[in-house]
Amino acid sequence: TSRSDKLLVRDVNPHLLCVLCRGYFVEATSIVECLHSFCKSCIVKYIKTSRYCPICDVQLNRQDPFLSLKPDEILQRLCYKIVPGLYKSEKLRRKDFSVRHNEAIA
Ligand SMILES: [Zn+2]
Ligand SMILES: [Zn+2]
Repeated sequence: TSRSDKLLVRDVNPHLLCVLCRGYFVEATSIVECLHSFCKSCIVKYIKTSRYCPICDVQLNRQDPFLSLKPDEILQRLCYKIVPGLYKSEKLRRKDFSVRHNEAIA
């Protein structure tokens, strides 16, 4: 990685970390009410015990809290872009090259 990449990583890092596991987002998922983001597995696990956002305490959908979750593809893509190692490991896992090819038109 070049120096500019490192600068960029440091600047955006706090926005790419899940508060629940303190790691980079994996399958980034946002709460539609407040747009806070978490790993999919982290927030799914969390809302089994609480129906409020872990960051701002907004109440999730009363009938079904899962309706308040939506995959955040843009954030996830950003995460892959900023953290090359993460993208690589996910890519190996999924054998999916579409993210990189779709970037230009996204
Ligand atoms: Zn997480
Ligand atoms: Zn929130």
